[in-house]
Amino acid sequence: MHGKGLFLLPAMKTDLCPAIIMRVRKLGESDLLVTFFTPHKGRLKGVAKGAMKSRKRFVNALDLFSLVSLEYAPRRQGNLCLLHSGKLLNAYPGLRADYASLSKASYLIELVEILFPPGVTEPELFELLNLSFESLSRGERSDLIPLLFELKAMSMGGYRIDTTTCAKCGRRYQGEGSAVFVREKGGIACLKCAQPSSVSPPLKPASVKAIETLQNKPFQELMAFDPGEDTMKEVKTVLKLHREYRLEQRLRTSKYVE
Ligand SMILES: [Zn+2]
Repeated sequence: MHGKGLFLLPAMKTDLCPAIIMRVRKLGESDLLVTFFTPHKGRLKGVAKGAMKSRKRFVNALDLFSLVSLEYAPRRQGNLCLLHSGKLLNAYPGLRADYASLSKASYLIELVEILFPPGVTEPELFELLNLSFESLSRGERSDLIPLLFELKAMSMGGYRIDTTTCAKCGRRYQGEGSAVFVREKGGIACLKCAQPSSVSPPLKPASVKAIETLQNKPFQELMAFDPGEDTMKEVKTVLKLHREYRLEQRLRTSKYVE
């Protein structure tokens, strides 16, 4: 059967695909263990043999949060693939320019890890992460990006906030009057059915609309979207409750965006 010798490599089938580097860790003397996110295979883990000694095959291509083109042999032993080479496509340089941007990038990555375990693929999420990193790198809409990303990623992961009807009586929300967020339902309720409390915060019509807009509109169209400070605050409060309830854990990096 297959030995461990590197001489077998040329016979192995390799894949070439874009990837975003999520985590990098030293492995032994000269290898790197790399977690990366791909459009069609989701999250993968691979070993870059000798990457610490010779950087030739991976010139700047294994830097954290970079977009690269990776050539790898899938599933070498267990779930680990073997990385052959990499080419840098976009370093998103602005992400590393300051602590705030880097923190936000870390937060997006952590959300991806929690929402999309290995084996779960979501090409749309890959593009969303790429666009979000590009914006953060350019310093554009860094206030909105974490919020926008989270609402969209949660939606893709099956935790979309329903803003169309009252989650209790089913009455259609007309866009007038305040509503209340109901975390157990992942939606809103009318004031006849629910009273505001610390775990069911009130939402003004503009905030309900903002959640809907951020979930539905394409990324590019949202770059000019300015819901205003009060609305942003309400949406953030709801999103925090929603995230903590649905993901049953506090993200380590969530303090960076609160
Ligand atoms: Zn109701």
